[in-house]
Amino acid sequence: MAPSPLPASLAPFADPLGLDTSLEEVLHQAATLLCRWMGRASSHPPLPGLSVLPAVEPEREGLPPDRLLADLQLVMEGAYQPAHPGALAHLDPPPLTASVVADMIAAGLNNNLLADELSPSLRRLERSLCGLIAQRLGLPAGAGGVPASGGSLSNLMALVTAREQRCPGAGPEAVVLASADAHVSLDKAVRVMGLPPPALHRLPVDDDGRMDIEALEGQVTRLRRQGTPIIAVVATAGTTVRGAVDPLLPVARLCRAHDLWLHVDAAIGGAFALVPRHRSRLAGLGAADSITFNPQKVIGITKTSSLLLVADPSTLQATFATGLPYMEPSWEGGHGGEEGLQGTRPAEILKLWLGLRQLGWDGVDHLLEGALRRRRQLVALLAPDARLLLRAGPLHLLAFRPRDLDPEACARWSQLTRQRLLEHRLMLSRPCYQGHHHLKAVLGNPHTRSGHLEQLAQLTLASLNTF
Ligand SMILES: *Cc1c(COP(=O)(O)O)cnc(C)c1O
Repeated sequence: MAPSPLPASLAPFADPLGLDTSLEEVLHQAATLLCRWMGRASSHPPLPGLSVLPAVEPEREGLPPDRLLADLQLVMEGAYQPAHPGALAHLDPPPLTASVVADMIAAGLNNNLLADELSPSLRRLERSLCGLIAQRLGLPAGAGGVPASGGSLSNLMALVTAREQRCPGAGPEAVVLASADAHVSLDKAVRVMGLPPPALHRLPVDDDGRMDIEALEGQVTRLRRQGTPIIAVVATAGTTVRGAVDPLLPVARLCRAHDLWLHVDAAIGGAFALVPRHRSRLAGLGAADSITFNPQKVIGITKTSSLLLVADPSTLQATFATGLPYMEPSWEGGHGGEEGLQGTRPAEILKLWLGLRQLGWDGVDHLLEGALRRRRQLVALLAPDARLLLRAGPLHLLAFRPRDLDPEACARWSQLTRQRLLEHRLMLSRPCYQGHHHLKAVLGNPHTRSGHLEQLAQLTLASLNTF
């Protein structure tokens, strides 16, 4: 169907007195632009060849819709394309269709999850869905949580809550324990909490990238003997470079024995605990006091979508509530803005809710299974060559580097090989891990076919011959 002609002008706000047909037409045409951009995802490289900058300043007079759409079109030309089948570099999958639709509706509703009276119904949905996901991840009945703009914020809020609960009033001598491979957002959290950088104790990992449980035990014993307050132990379920999962069961046991707050950063791995078939990859997750989960990273909920889930939701209120003196009291279990650092929040929950409704649990299972199958295929293609050192965990990430190269040679190899792969529209990332640059593939893109992986392996193995 040909798009209807654009209206010559657009009122600044939709007509509240009746159907605003000019807005309707502009939304149609904007949807058409977006669908066309998505539809040619595989005929353009994941990284665009050009970087565009549209006119930035508003003109003296406001622009008509055709100029606005042209501005948008230009920005789209320069955008990263997560739906390209060769987009394998990061934890940024293509957006789930229902999530795109829900995002548009959330923008139009423009409700505010700060307070019940600004988001009736939506707040109820948010609370219910957080409770449901918390239980799905294994937390006890009554568990809940709050959405946050990204996993970094979820981790920060978790640590602030842990400090409030386990060592209120502790000064800058308090510490957080995590593994060497835990996410950099913990470094930021510690800074924001007014602690010196060494307050984040990074414990060694084993050959599989998992936190060394004996090192943790030794450290906890030492700190206890010294009387040093421990804010929390942070276990990671899905490390950023290789997707390793810390030994959650023994870590949880240790935390229980010492009455320590256990936060699990499951930003990446959390999705695997949603479905029975993969839940065992994160055994022990349900013993956490708090969990960070980023549905944006694996199942394609549009950004941002992170949840901070807690076994006991009253701990969030106890940490963050201020009474919101300029609002009517909550009429249903507490205002959304009283459970975390963010005040105003959009109805991000719609994207997760509708996305999950679209997929169903079977759809989630299918997405994850596909990602794991692609990781297994890539491992099978690369592993026979003993010159490569492969790093993987139980999830859908794989990092690798030439085994015998020194750090400087690895840096050059990874740069050249990444470039060679990009020329074939295969995009990998190049993390520096344990002193060496690696190439890293994230296999969550549902459009990647085995042919792409065969080509990726062939180019990678050929690269070894030139080094
Ligand atoms: C990405 C990531 C985070 C941070 O999430 P953002 O949404 O980027 O703020 C935290 N932890 C882990 C393990 C991650 O991979």
